[in-house]
Amino acid sequence: MDSYDVIVIGGSAAGLTAGITSRSFYPEKSVLIIRKEEKVLIPCGIPYIFGTVCTPSKNLIPDALLEKNNIELLIGNVIGIDRNNKTVETKKGDKVQYEKLIIATGSIPAVPPISGSDKENVYVVNKDVDYLQSLLDKIEDSKDMVIIGGGFIGMEFADECKKNRDINITVVEMLSCCLMAAFDKDICRQGEEILKKNGVDIITKADVVLIGIGSRPNTQIARSDGIEIGENGSIKVNKYMQTSDEDIFACGDCCEKISFFTKKISNIMLASIACNEARIAGANLYKINRTNEGEIGIFATAFGETALARAGLSLQEAKKNGYNVVIGTAESINTHPGCMPGGKNLKVILIFEKGTGIILGGQLIGAKSGGEMINLISACIHEKMTANNMATFQMGTHPVLTASPVAYQISNAAEMAIKELRK
Ligand SMILES: Cc1cc2nc3c(=O)[nH]c(=O)nc-3n(C[C@H](O)[C@H](O)[C@H](O)COP(=O)(O)OP(=O)(O)OC[C@H]3O[C@@H](n4cnc5c(N)ncnc54)[C@H](O)[C@@H]3O)c2cc1C
Repeated sequence: MDSYDVIVIGGSAAGLTAGITSRSFYPEKSVLIIRKEEKVLIPCGIPYIFGTVCTPSKNLIPDALLEKNNIELLIGNVIGIDRNNKTVETKKGDKVQYEKLIIATGSIPAVPPISGSDKENVYVVNKDVDYLQSLLDKIEDSKDMVIIGGGFIGMEFADECKKNRDINITVVEMLSCCLMAAFDKDICRQGEEILKKNGVDIITKADVVLIGIGSRPNTQIARSDGIEIGENGSIKVNKYMQTSDEDIFACGDCCEKISFFTKKISNIMLASIACNEARIAGANLYKINRTNEGEIGIFATAFGETALARAGLSLQEAKKNGYNVVIGTAESINTHPGCMPGGKNLKVILIFEKGTGIILGGQLIGAKSGGEMINLISACIHEKMTANNMATFQMGTHPVLTASPVAYQISNAAEMAIKELRK
């Protein structure tokens, strides 16, 4: 029987990152990744297969990363873990021994209990090359498409499927507006407007239906040998990403998450969180080096040329969790002067806790540079910076790259909140 120091089950965002991190922290250890699929899709790129990127084969995680990091690969469907003998077994009969195991089996699409959801031409978002190719072929052939779920995934699909194609698209959302799980209403409405302008419409019949209402943790393997499952059905882990078995770690969509703010269980599943957890799990295998502080939750998307993003708590979530809040808003063109080529408006909203002045969340809409600015806001949240820290931190600016230092959105939104905090 083959034997490895470290075995990772799962080869997507979490599994690959965990493998690379364990190699970096423990270069003397042998590392094997076992994954089901021959080719791994970039999960966040899936909607773009249907418009911008055109084909699943252009949206793959390169296996060169495995070779570069001296990680071995076994393609196989793991059907069970034997914790006594420290082995895992695949469907085709391979048995491999581990010293430390990382479970990164991700998530599978959630299917609502709607009658007809098993009918032909009703699809979910499976992270599978052949399945998505068949959905792409079906869409090419269709005149009318319904997307169930107006979250990020549904809205990105709607925007992409509309590109270069004559197809009617309807998004069906049960909340009062799309994207509500991520943003406060004002930004949701602006996002909806962009899609409506791009021709996303309401219709009553369809040739193809796509269910994009989210995912549920894939925990079958963990359950196979009694690893503890948490209350929301994901693998229970401690702050070091260790499961109830100290030699088995878990990371990514399959494992339990807690909120950075409330320390309560959270159901947010994102590739950014998965990779963060994987970096912690991989580093802690033989010695505790890193701690998980909980998920901040950074959502980012783009419809056409407009970025929409959020980090931390939205206003409604902050209020729901009992925070007294103060808001600061600032908008400016992301070049200076604003007439520079490519200059576009970017509006930033920052939410601070009243009293402490600590940043709880941020949202933005506008220029694509917002995709990086939201990460900067997340770093401020992680470091529990106050409005004063954020108004006075030293930022770099350049006419082609950013707003002017006088109009820099983060500093000015923080200054505006400080006025309120002083009252
Ligand atoms: C359409 C779409 C768009 C998204 N966009 C974004 C985005 O823009 N930003 C963002 O942060 N997040 C986004 N997400 C969420 C993100 O994709 C997930 O959070 C991320 O894929 C989680 O990574 P993971 O490695 O934990 O799980 P997964 O990507 O689900 O991978 C699981 C891996 O485990 C393997 N596996 C499972 N069971 C077995 C088994 N029994 N044996 C062997 N291997 C097994 C699978 O084959 C796969 O390799 C999006 C998700 C979707 C579906």
